[in-house]
Amino acid sequence: MVPCPWCAGPSELHLTGCADLEYFTPADADYRRCPTCRIVFLHPLPSREELAALYPPEYQNFARPRDRLSRWLTDRYHARHAALVRRHVPPGGRVLEVGCADGALLARLRDEGYEVAGVEISEDACERAWERRLPVFCGTLEEYPGDETFDLVLAGHVNEHTLDPPGTAAHLAARLRPGGVAYVETPNVGSPDARLFGNRWGLLHYPRHLYLFDRHTLRTLLERAGLRVERLRWEPNSCGWALSVQTVLRRAGIDRSRRPRSAYYPALLLLLLPLNLVDVLAGGTAVMAAVARRPER
Ligand SMILES: [Zn+2]
Repeated sequence: MVPCPWCAGPSELHLTGCADLEYFTPADADYRRCPTCRIVFLHPLPSREELAALYPPEYQNFARPRDRLSRWLTDRYHARHAALVRRHVPPGGRVLEVGCADGALLARLRDEGYEVAGVEISEDACERAWERRLPVFCGTLEEYPGDETFDLVLAGHVNEHTLDPPGTAAHLAARLRPGGVAYVETPNVGSPDARLFGNRWGLLHYPRHLYLFDRHTLRTLLERAGLRVERLRWEPNSCGWALSVQTVLRRAGIDRSRRPRSAYYPALLLLLLPLNLVDVLAGGTAVMAAVARRPER
């Protein structure tokens, strides 16, 4: 019996036969699901040492994309997040971004008058953020020193990568002032593309996504950390579909690229964007976000 990491009850096999067709790291694990909590988790989970080895130096989520279309899409992505920050916190407010990569979003927010800080585990990414003179701590949120709190904390695509999402969520909540807002974005394992592609779903990001959430488990995660979920947002982002198509083509041997993203990937992102309409009608988009607030008292 493999116990559920959340309730210790018996879990069931969810997906087997997964392969890393982005970075080609060897791994031998399955995804399991707890029928009670609904959380999906990798089994066996890597040790702390094994975890670091899953992120090669060329890990693209830390890097600025090279082609113009990807750069434009990344800028759009940051513009949407900047708009979200403006909606909740006026300029002059204090914003922390967990997993801030090279600090592109933080630099934009600083230009708009916000007081910003970042947390990032990649040393390379930190160095590029420091070149922008951004106050970025190199390490995990759990290691972030001091007890400074913020008006808003952004954590995009963080919780699914950590060994202890409830612990990470508790640290995130502790960094909010009373009444402060958390914005937590993560893949949605309940999305139509997740169900359609199974072990070829691109956002498994196997074996780096250790936990996979749906709208229920994301809500549970944040509520257990003492936050009040005000809204779940479906994000206009077709990366779930596009990365799954790439995975299928690689599995079939049609696409023999060894780079994380093939040349056609940015074009697929644009082409498949209308599928987000299907997503919203049938379980939500593959990228979802929760807006949650720390209660005033
Ligand atoms: Zn459970």
